[in-house]
Amino acid sequence: MEALAQSLGQPAYRGRQLFQWLYGKGATSFEAMTNLPKSFRQTLTETATIDTLTQATLQTARDETAKGLFTLTSGRQIEAVLIPDFDDDGTAKRLTVCVSSQVGCAMACSFCATGLMGFQQNLTAGEIFDQVWQMNALAQERYGRGITNVVFMGMGEPLLNYENVLQSLDVLTHPDGFGLAPRRITVSTVGLARRIKQLADDRPRVGLAVSLHAPTDAKRSSIMPVNRAAATDLAALKDAIQYYTRATGRRITYEYCMFHGFNDTAEDARHLAGVAAWAPSKVNLIMYNPVEGLGFERTSEAQLNAFIRILVQRGVTVTVRRSRGQDIDAACGQLAVRGADA
Ligand code: SF4
Repeated sequence: MEALAQSLGQPAYRGRQLFQWLYGKGATSFEAMTNLPKSFRQTLTETATIDTLTQATLQTARDETAKGLFTLTSGRQIEAVLIPDFDDDGTAKRLTVCVSSQVGCAMACSFCATGLMGFQQNLTAGEIFDQVWQMNALAQERYGRGITNVVFMGMGEPLLNYENVLQSLDVLTHPDGFGLAPRRITVSTVGLARRIKQLADDRPRVGLAVSLHAPTDAKRSSIMPVNRAAATDLAALKDAIQYYTRATGRRITYEYCMFHGFNDTAEDARHLAGVAAWAPSKVNLIMYNPVEGLGFERTSEAQLNAFIRILVQRGVTVTVRRSRGQDIDAACGQLAVRGADA
């Protein structure tokens, strides 16, 4: 923004003011930027545009999870989800936005609706930011307060859109921008080992989650093609995770979708405990919502409880995530734009 201001004959601090208007106040027109000289506002109007996401639809589930469908300037569409967590007295204590980083995804995990779409495009940092901004406005409207957390768990593999995701993190955490504490943001990856190390070096204060979903190479490779390459198999992941936790001093979260008869046996639990012991971590077990035609089923409550017992006996920290927004297909692995025209 400083460079832009200077290229238009203004001092650098005008760029900082521009940044505040765009990312701290969400201005959608240059005219609204009242502390900028009129002539500068005029020049900006003639030379630049402010692009925002257009909300196409908004669906709200019974549990108040809200899914917004947004149209990008390219015409393609993405989804973002607002997930409220309520206190016993009914106040929304935690308001999490789950953002998309790509349209579709190249990773082709076999249980995931987004993977079925294939990769279509990367989102810009602004398009990622605007999902948070618009869901924040919805949170303000519904609950009288802004969002508290951001997770990069929507459509796409964030670490394959690395530069834009990094820039969106900077805008979201900048005191003149959205001003969110980095520890309130979690980037979730399929496990791209080299990028995990790079993220540890580049943005060590942001949280990391790894989609594990199977605890052995054979099983993981059968549902997640990324695991078939030596650079991203479990040995490479172990090395990267140990690097990450050493470099950042943070524990990581393993996301583990429970699939009936595939990864929910006692043996799987023992293998998973072994993975969890690689480095300081916790395991988040997710009750899967079956996606039609993909052939995976949700595990039973009894199986889930037996699985948890084995993990806990082995000293693993476990949380369980009941899928949210099931009646509007907003749960994990279900984000996909129906009828997307590629
Ligand atoms: S689970 Fe994540 S990485 Fe895998 S295909 Fe779906 S969006 Fe991509």
